[in-house]
Amino acid sequence: MLIPHDTRIALDTVVDLVNTAPEDGTGGARNGTPDGLADIEALYGFVRSHSLSGVGDLGRRDLRAVLEVRTRFAEVFAAPDARTAADLINRLVAGAGTTPQLTDHDGYDWHVHYFAPGASVADHLAADCGMALAFMVVAGEQERLRRCEAPDCGHAFVDLSRNRSRRYCDSRTCGNRLHVAAYRARRKEAAG
Ligand SMILES: [Zn+2]
Ligand SMILES: [Zn+2]
Repeated sequence: MLIPHDTRIALDTVVDLVNTAPEDGTGGARNGTPDGLADIEALYGFVRSHSLSGVGDLGRRDLRAVLEVRTRFAEVFAAPDARTAADLINRLVAGAGTTPQLTDHDGYDWHVHYFAPGASVADHLAADCGMALAFMVVAGEQERLRRCEAPDCGHAFVDLSRNRSRRYCDSRTCGNRLHVAAYRARRKEAAG
C-alpha cells in the first residue's frame, strides 16, 4: 500500500506516543515499565524528537491533555474492527477542532496540516495523528494498526508487511525472542 510521506510520519508519531504508556491498557502486559511521558520535560523531549511544529510553552495542562489523547489512541490500536476504530477517531478529531491547511514549511514538500493554528500540543496530535489513522481506515487497512502479540509486550505498531502478517513489534525484538523460545521448546521435545 502507498502511504503518503506525511501520513507515514504522523503514524510513526502516534505509535511512539502510544508506546510511551507504562502499560498497554489491556490489563497485564507491560506493567512495571516507566511512563515515557512522566513530566513536562519528557513532553518537551517528545515534541522535539518528533519535530512537532508550532508548539510553544508547555504546562501541566498540556501534559494531562496529551496523556488523555494517548489513552484514546491506544484504544484505536486495540479496536477489533474498522467501525470501532472509526468511531474513536471521529471523536478524537472532532474534539481537536481541525483546520486543514496546505503548507511547505521548513523546506518540506507540500502537505496538509490538520491542526488549527495555535492549537495545543494535544489538539495538534489528535488532529494530525487522528487523520493519519483515518487514512488507514479509508484505505481499508485498519487491520494494520496492531498490538504486539508477545506476552509481555503489547507495543503498538503499524504492520507494513505485504500480507499483513506481522504479529510482533520490532522495538524489543519480540519476534526473535519468541523464535528462540519456540526453537528451544522443539529441541526439548526432540530430546525427550
Ligand atoms: Zn508540517
Ligand atoms: Zn513487542
